[in-house]
Amino acid sequence: MRPRTTASRKCFIVDDEPVVRKAFYAALGGGDIELAGFASLQELQDGWGPEHPDIIFLDIALEHSDAIDVIRALAARNYRGAVQIMSGRDRELQDRVRHVGEQHGLIMLPALQKPFRAAQLEAVMRNHFAPALSRDRDDDLPAETTSESGFGFSLAEILRNGWLQFYFQPKMDLQKKCIIGAEVLARCRHAECGIILPGSFLPGADEASLQELSKLALTAGLANWQAFADAGFPLKLAVNVTVNDLMELPIHSLVRKLRPADPRWPGLILEVTEDQAVRDIARTQEIATQLRIYDITLALDDFGSGYSHLARLKELPFAEVKLDRALVANCGEDVDNASLCKTAIDLAHHFGATVVAEGIEKRSELQALIAMGCDVGQGFLIAPAMPQDRLIAVLGELAQKFAVA
Ligand code: C2E
Ligand code: CA
Ligand code: CA
Repeated sequence: MRPRTTASRKCFIVDDEPVVRKAFYAALGGGDIELAGFASLQELQDGWGPEHPDIIFLDIALEHSDAIDVIRALAARNYRGAVQIMSGRDRELQDRVRHVGEQHGLIMLPALQKPFRAAQLEAVMRNHFAPALSRDRDDDLPAETTSESGFGFSLAEILRNGWLQFYFQPKMDLQKKCIIGAEVLARCRHAECGIILPGSFLPGADEASLQELSKLALTAGLANWQAFADAGFPLKLAVNVTVNDLMELPIHSLVRKLRPADPRWPGLILEVTEDQAVRDIARTQEIATQLRIYDITLALDDFGSGYSHLARLKELPFAEVKLDRALVANCGEDVDNASLCKTAIDLAHHFGATVVAEGIEKRSELQALIAMGCDVGQGFLIAPAMPQDRLIAVLGELAQKFAVA
């Protein structure tokens, strides 16, 4: 679950020392931060409600377990908030624990050395939740955290400093229960802030930087394919681009240059949003036709997140329609969402498009989508986005996990 955008934040403290938990209540309590303290992994498991916390402060050594056990448990829950390691132990051990967390696909913040001061806790919260807090706390934020991105980094700065990297989120064939593709998703890796999600640096980004991002993402989608194939997984990769970039980037020359020679290369998918595609349908159609020559197809992203027009599916040249989490959420129980999903699936099929359900978090959603005939699924229930080597390492397990679902 991504950090909530409202002022209320949920923060867990996992530390066996009552005095530490108390320090958190003293420093952060009494405001709009919801705090919960746990002395052990067991207590954390028992106290985990339906809504994930936004941040977990985690002590390295607990009484009957340790941070590594907690990291494994968080990964098993597909926890998507941040983890802040805190310890009085040496930096090297802290860095190793942080690395283990990242290997599990968790968002790990730089370790907090114990003992710490209340001001440091406030700083962690402010840095992590800067987009919401900066509105209230503009005056006491240091200058570098007040630029257009909540973390204080614009996409231009991230690109200039070489902090950009790409993660991969697997896509599963819901009928055959096997991983068939992955979406390439941008991340910023900052030495002090850890991994920063695109929601913090894409809004408000300038056109030139966005175009550079599309170019790098396309390059990643083409150049990273061979490593998946060599591991026995010739996945079809999908890259997010804007329609502007479709028109302005020399995509076909990039593809000609970087296209894998391996005969198993299944082509590439470019994801664009509907509002952009409908602005110039004729042009989108022309580009889609040209891209087909290079085995590139278009996917309609975030379908159902705004005012989507089912009838438009007929005119738009999309090989794939991605149902937004707004439709997929609770489609196992929510009759409105279920019927919207079913209608969209049937219509997309009618026009020959494959349907991908995004943001699947619950088994009940997965089961409902399978029953509705949805083709492909993506979401935390299957796996979050992660670095390529990590995904390659878990692809085998993922196939097993759902084989009998
Ligand atoms: P998107 O294209 O809709 O990508 C899916 C987003 O949903 C990703 O967020 C992914 O991590 C998240 N997600 C996956 N499974 C679940 C789930 O089960 N539940 C929930 N609640 N969320 C889930 P992420 O990586 O933070 O990316 C956010 C958006 O940023 C993307 O939305 C996309 O629009 C944009 N983006 C990401 N990478 C790029 C890029 O390289 N270029 C461009 N132009 N945009 C990008
Ligand atoms: Ca997408
Ligand atoms: Ca989407």
